[in-house]
Amino acid sequence: MDEPTRPALARARAILAAEIIAIGTELTVGETTDTNSGELARSLVAHGVAVTRVTDLPDHQPTVVETLLAALARADLVVCTGGLGPTPDDLTRESVAEACGEQLRVDPRALAWLEGLWARRNQQFPPSNIKQAWVIPSATTLANLHGTAPGWWVDRPDGRVIVLLPGPPRELGPMWRDMVLPRLVERGVGDDMDVRTLRLTGIGESQVADRLGEPLLRRSNPVVATYARHEAVDVRISARAEYGRPAVEVGDEAEAAVMGILGEHVWARGDTSWAQALGEALASHGWTIAVTERGSEGALVALLRGMPGLRRAEVIGPGAEPGPRASFESDLELREAERIRAEGRADVGLAIRVETAGQDTAVHVGVVTPAGRHAEQRLAFLGGRQGADRAAIAGAAVLQAFLRR
Ligand code: ATP
Repeated sequence: MDEPTRPALARARAILAAEIIAIGTELTVGETTDTNSGELARSLVAHGVAVTRVTDLPDHQPTVVETLLAALARADLVVCTGGLGPTPDDLTRESVAEACGEQLRVDPRALAWLEGLWARRNQQFPPSNIKQAWVIPSATTLANLHGTAPGWWVDRPDGRVIVLLPGPPRELGPMWRDMVLPRLVERGVGDDMDVRTLRLTGIGESQVADRLGEPLLRRSNPVVATYARHEAVDVRISARAEYGRPAVEVGDEAEAAVMGILGEHVWARGDTSWAQALGEALASHGWTIAVTERGSEGALVALLRGMPGLRRAEVIGPGAEPGPRASFESDLELREAERIRAEGRADVGLAIRVETAGQDTAVHVGVVTPAGRHAEQRLAFLGGRQGADRAAIAGAAVLQAFLRR
């Protein structure tokens, strides 16, 4: 059978190094924070592509052209974001056309699609939007399912690729994930790389680093790095193939070492959220849940938002009457968990109550499941909003540990 026809250049250049150029004066005057570049960089690195430079530029054509030309001399892939709108200050298409030495023309299919968007709303198509249908001969457009700005995929004669994405993150994300990444992967992207993340709770970043130790954290392959995030301390392991060993084997070995040291703190992998992790743990038992929180300003509800199996979520203010005192403090949380479970007609009840404890936050947790009951008290670092957020995570962690037993 014939191999599918692909331009020879597509096979000639593997995509190993990329540069990201975020375009928009709002970025360079500090009105918008460039989050797109970080998202793209994370994704590229996870696919084995080294991101060698990230640049933020104003909407100024000569500056964009100069930067594009320099990036094309260094990298295999250049990803630009922003400046694809209909207004005269959106100059990204013009800049790429100039850098490639090609003429802009209207792509009839893109124009028909754009006109359709206005026709659907019974509105006149504004002539200024015609520029969003522009392409150059070496570009194909990428459909935008969440906005009006199509993206571009540009194949350069030397096998390099330029990708243009719209600025708004909710437009850029799906276009990157659904249209660009699959095409890059098909082109043969990156070295043999294995990137994995372990998510930890109940331990601070500096303790994680201390326990992993310098020899592990200073190795060049795999790179083991720690990141303090809102809902976890992440340990990321990025492995490359070496001495004939595939990257996944190098990654497995490092993961086993990290699990041996910190396994008890690992609650999830990758970019799993608490809502997903608990949702999965509950689903593995076939259970639903109802939760109540007192004094934590809705932090638990926020953490569990969108969790499958959540039947009821109740937030009680800090000043509210705590109900009749039980003989043991922990009885209170167990009775609250029992109550919300019955009211929510759920299999599992989770109750948390927070109290100020000096500079920090004490959290009382009660869990009731068909398999048993458990109460625990933990101390969350810091007070106020941050303490409440950490208290909610502590409550989630207590529930997860109990479900795993
Ligand atoms: P559209 O025509 O759909 O608005 P665009 O490509 O013209 O797309 P821009 O006008 O450059 O996009 O940016 C639109 C908005 O997207 C900005 O106001 C900002 O909120 C957001 N945005 C742009 N660039 C970035 C970025 N690098 N990181 C995060 N947000 C961004």
